[in-house]
Amino acid sequence: MKKTERIKYLIIGNSAGGIGAAEAIREVDKNGTIIIVSDEPYPAYSRPLISDYLSGKRSIEKMNYRPFDFYEKNSISTILGEKVNRVDFKNNTVTFSNGHILTWEKLLIATGGTPIVPPMDGKEARGVFTFTTLGDARAIDEYLNQKTGANAVVIGGGLIGVSVTESLLKRGVKVSIIEMKDRVLNIILDEITSAMEDKAIRASGAEIITGHTVTKINSNSRGEVESVTLDDGKTIPCSIVIISIGIRPRLELVQNSEIKINRGIVVNMHMETSIPNVYACGDAAEAYDFIYRENRLTPIWPNAYLGGRIAGLNMSGKTAEYPGGTALNAIKYFGVYIVSAGMAASPDSTYEEVVANGESSYKKLILKEGFITGMVFSGDVDRAGIIYNLMKDRLYVNSFKNDLVTENFGLLSLPEKIWRNRLATSPLESDSSKSSVSPC
Ligand SMILES: Cc1cc2nc3c(=O)[nH]c(=O)nc-3n(C[C@H](O)[C@H](O)[C@H](O)COP(=O)(O)OP(=O)(O)OC[C@H]3O[C@@H](n4cnc5c(N)ncnc54)[C@H](O)[C@@H]3O)c2cc1C
Repeated sequence: MKKTERIKYLIIGNSAGGIGAAEAIREVDKNGTIIIVSDEPYPAYSRPLISDYLSGKRSIEKMNYRPFDFYEKNSISTILGEKVNRVDFKNNTVTFSNGHILTWEKLLIATGGTPIVPPMDGKEARGVFTFTTLGDARAIDEYLNQKTGANAVVIGGGLIGVSVTESLLKRGVKVSIIEMKDRVLNIILDEITSAMEDKAIRASGAEIITGHTVTKINSNSRGEVESVTLDDGKTIPCSIVIISIGIRPRLELVQNSEIKINRGIVVNMHMETSIPNVYACGDAAEAYDFIYRENRLTPIWPNAYLGGRIAGLNMSGKTAEYPGGTALNAIKYFGVYIVSAGMAASPDSTYEEVVANGESSYKKLILKEGFITGMVFSGDVDRAGIIYNLMKDRLYVNSFKNDLVTENFGLLSLPEKIWRNRLATSPLESDSSKSSVSPC
């Protein structure tokens, strides 16, 4: 590739957002050059499935997000395993870590998130990992293959921490989760569903220590992890540490630019940033959240893909608006099915909660002035998709809110005018619990 080559569409990030954009561009513009760049060396893979790789349930080939000939069939070039070091927004160029320069007409920043690693003594020891990439999963796998009877400390009991715990337990590794807050999965679940997960995790043999954090990682003379020290001075022996306290948007390419950043790259309804012809999506972007009715980070796979699609359509000359996204988690860690979306807990007393806590299922809605702003369902989650769509479409549900959490609730339980209308516009809605809450 020549140094001066001008690329019509340059996409940084070969994951949900980048692929969504490339697919949308090709629907509109069959010939314009598209290059997707990633510092990861793999074709696009399903990031949420790295836990299945680590547990041994899934091979690398089964992680692919698109068929092997996807790029070729769509005339998309890739530069993989190469990092973009700098973007010059005035001259429309990117510079790679190897010094190579490309010029672009339209740029998409789909750089995703980066794991938060707090300052902590000993974090450079051998055996300390994060868990956000296939590379991480492979490195942990290799490390564990050299150990027998490994003990792991997982720092952080959020989605990533619980997911890696499940994989490690499946491999016979003993796990202690250290969670600073008073309960696991405290961001995406409410107290009741957190307690369900807590019980299931402990029943599977893991230890959970809440209300504490790790202040130091201790290593042996070979520089390998041998224990962690908690903030109360307690020491936990371990041979591997996974730091999973959260992810923040990966913003290094825009940090010193004129691009508007809040917690992520701020985009408008067309997924365009404050610099014309520069778009952003996915975990790196702060896009419209239809529950909070403002731009927020909503770092989940479907939002990244959809945001990428909208960006791609606009980049290639169509006008398309992002309908908004919100938090949406459909999990089944340790056999407990839970769907949560929007708010998991009421922010204040102006919100109302409608709860049905049955023997085998738990359903909670959060409402503000008759509109659903959040939901947490466990056990019987089959109809969660219908509720999610009522929330997304901002339907006034005050007069039938209690019906929504009943055991036999279905689309036909809604007032006739509403179900007729919804069936006409979305014939598959009665099945939508599965399609709309499935992340990838
Ligand atoms: C363990 C785990 C489990 C998850 N489970 C779920 C789930 O169950 N459901 C769900 O909806 N979501 C889940 N998520 C979140 C979901 O994976 C993300 O929301 C989604 O991957 C975001 O897509 P993205 O395209 O914005 O960015 P990413 O998937 O983060 O990809 C960004 C890519 O850009 C590359 N890149 C960044 N900067 C540069 C640069 N300067 N040069 C070159 N390349 C660069 C990165 O290396 C990366 O490959 C999970 C995430 C993790 C880590």
